[in-house]
Amino acid sequence: MHIGVAGLGAMGGNVAARLMEVGHQVTVWNRSPEKTKPLADAGAKVAATPAAVAAASEAVITMLTDGAAIDAVYNGPSGLLSGDVKGKLFIEMSTVAPKVETELAPKVRAKGAVLVECPVGGSTAPARKGQLLGLMGAEPADAARAKPILDQLCRKVEHCGPVGTGSAMKLAINLPLMVAWQAYGEAFAIARSVGWEPKRLLDLFVESNGANKALAMRADMIVKMFEGKDPGPTTFSIANGVKDLRTMIATGEALGADMIATKAALAGFEDASKHGFGGDDGSCMTVYWTQRKK
Ligand code: NAP
Repeated sequence: MHIGVAGLGAMGGNVAARLMEVGHQVTVWNRSPEKTKPLADAGAKVAATPAAVAAASEAVITMLTDGAAIDAVYNGPSGLLSGDVKGKLFIEMSTVAPKVETELAPKVRAKGAVLVECPVGGSTAPARKGQLLGLMGAEPADAARAKPILDQLCRKVEHCGPVGTGSAMKLAINLPLMVAWQAYGEAFAIARSVGWEPKRLLDLFVESNGANKALAMRADMIVKMFEGKDPGPTTFSIANGVKDLRTMIATGEALGADMIATKAALAGFEDASKHGFGGDDGSCMTVYWTQRKK
């Protein structure tokens, strides 16, 4: 199938590589053109604009930072919706407020195309291996069209309901994870005072009931950070964490919930961003907070 990918960040780049690996002909576009190079070297076609991606593709996947990026890529002068897109399928996989997707869907529909939202759980390695957790929001007929593609990217695809429900569920499942990075930072501030080597400390935490899967997966990275070594590439940035936490708070408060733990985690993530750690992995919050003085 001819599939387009617009947005080749940490996630979009891996999604495009996965689609090529399973045999699709992939056309890519990214705002910063240098990120297209590894995919072009592997055989992807590079388009000059989002409009050209749409023209070359039967289905287009977008995985972008936030609502502003989605607006620019879909509705900009050379955007995905600027040409004739009748009959095409757009799969929007960014983590954003449900409102962003529910406002985009009718614009896509007005052009004779369909929008399926499918934000995902899982980070860069699952994206590369087709092992994401897909949280799809779509009309049933549109969902059926997107499912075969999403099944090649995800270990499981949950059809949550209409467009907007996938985004709500994605924000919900990410919330405990974001709050936990801040909590581990505060926990390690106490635990490090005992004087153990980082490896021994992480082994204990991973074995405890307070561990989550992300801590287990990032334990080696955290040990390296405590040892002052390079932990390797960022999978999910602290800057993206700030964006997600703000979106969770706005979404929860609009529903009447008091988001006290989420607000505390946001204060920690914003503090780390302000001190230059926005590009670092979310797991860096553990080390940053331990070493930060009040
Ligand atoms: P990323 O590495 O920061 O990539 C963001 C992408 O959005 C880049 O391609 C960037 O282009 C593009 N972009 C941002 N603003 C733009 C604009 N105004 N116009 C056009 N393009 C724009 O982020 P990521 O980690 O891949 O995450 C992408 C989305 O997936 C986010 O919504 C994130 O919350 C979600 N997500 C991430 C993970 C993860 O583990 N990383 C997991 C699940 C979901 P440039 O390259 O030009 O900056």
